[in-house]
Amino acid sequence: MSDVPYFISYDEARSILERHALTLGTVTLPLDDLLHRVLALDIDSRVDDPRFDNSAMDGFAFNHNDSLNPPSSLSIQQTVQAGTEQQLNTVHPGHAARIMTGAPIPPGADAILPIERCKVSDDGTSVVLLDEGKKHFIRKQGENLTRGQTALSKGTLLTPSSIGLCATMGHDSAVVFKRAVIGILPTGDELQLPGTELQENAIYESNSFGLGSLVQLSGHTPRRYTSVCDSMDKLRKQLDIAAEECDFILTSGGVSMGEWDLVRRLMEEEGDIKFWRVKIRPGSPPLFGYWKGTPLFGLPGNPASSHVVFRMLVAPFLRAATYGGGYMEKQVRVQLAEPLKTSPTDLILRRIKIDTSGEHMLAYSTGYQGSGNLNSLVLADGLTLLEPGHSGDIGTWCNALLL
Ligand code: AMP
Ligand code: MG
Repeated sequence: MSDVPYFISYDEARSILERHALTLGTVTLPLDDLLHRVLALDIDSRVDDPRFDNSAMDGFAFNHNDSLNPPSSLSIQQTVQAGTEQQLNTVHPGHAARIMTGAPIPPGADAILPIERCKVSDDGTSVVLLDEGKKHFIRKQGENLTRGQTALSKGTLLTPSSIGLCATMGHDSAVVFKRAVIGILPTGDELQLPGTELQENAIYESNSFGLGSLVQLSGHTPRRYTSVCDSMDKLRKQLDIAAEECDFILTSGGVSMGEWDLVRRLMEEEGDIKFWRVKIRPGSPPLFGYWKGTPLFGLPGNPASSHVVFRMLVAPFLRAATYGGGYMEKQVRVQLAEPLKTSPTDLILRRIKIDTSGEHMLAYSTGYQGSGNLNSLVLADGLTLLEPGHSGDIGTWCNALLL
């Protein structure tokens, strides 16, 4: 145990985790199943977008020179619709083509006037243009994308707009990283499932449900196990099962310094620890290593701490497996509206409510910050990222992670 990195800085922990990123396989999925998946290959466009010069407006197309001195009267020569196969006749001087949004620009035309600024004669044979024609209402071939261009790169988290772009580029599927199966194993003699009658001195087990939801939010698949009591043999057995069934194991509880902190003891004796304890508050006890070849994160048992450690360490670890993505990492700059206790050695992660009604964002504590108090997390919009030695006085600026 003596050579294991112990009580390290947050940045050190992040860099150790980076070096041990999971490797995930890939899978090809149809567009309908791509939301929040991470691209495993670049995507090149199969087409120019737009495919041809087309009108951005319903209106008339004509030669710009014919509209220089409005009002100008032009003869209506043809109608061009979007999506129909039709002969495009050249628009001659003094003439205009009625045109729909998305329809191709006929030769001879280089400007559009939207229908609202056009007056068609009663017999429908001529049009008066009330303004000069607009060249920018012609969308040029390839102005968004050219054929062969890489528009989405490996590591991109697929959002509604990027999935739309896949379709625009002509792809009906994409190659994405597989989801990791993440085992969640709560430990502690005192834990009982919610919905049951509590025995004397027992409490409801909450971590596996909160952590399972965080795993889902990070784009992976949780596998929750019922809690293991504080016995080395039972814990060993359950870890063996989880290592067999999962890509990665999250335990909760039992990683502090106490005699009953069996996850730590078992990992010390039979596992391979890469670090133990990190200088963050709350959540200093976490442990990371391998159980028989499967990566394992030992999270603290206190519910607020386990949630915070997931956000600060587990989420980036999972993100490193896909090089990008991550929809749990937005940071904002806030000003402290009340004093917060900071530390010369630890990164301080206070649960804060962010008031956005003024000129800049103001941070208020959500109240009692006990590491078992989930309520203070429920009320929180974010976590402060107050660096070691940073002031916690009123008016201090700091970054905050949005929850
Ligand atoms: P431990 O890290 O095992 O010492 O646990 C720290 C505190 O968190 C204790 O008060 C435990 O009862 C509580 N705790 C541990 N695991 C859970 C859990 N899965 N759900 C709710 N509370 C827990
Ligand atoms: Mg315990």
